[in-house]
Amino acid sequence: MALDDRLLDILVCPACRGAVEHKDRRHVILCTECGRRYPVREGIPVMLVEEATPPR
Ligand SMILES: [Zn+2]
Repeated sequence: MALDDRLLDILVCPACRGAVEHKDRRHVILCTECGRRYPVREGIPVMLVEEATPPR
């Protein structure tokens, strides 16, 4: 399932306010600034710092 591009435009990383991009195959939202990864559950991005996978 593809996410709405307009939705992605308004999403920002809650940790650093950086831009995010959708990684379709992994079903995650990746922050291009700090590298945190946010889960996408049933097509809904979960933009919560406590749910994010920290950058390596
Ligand atoms: Zn970030």
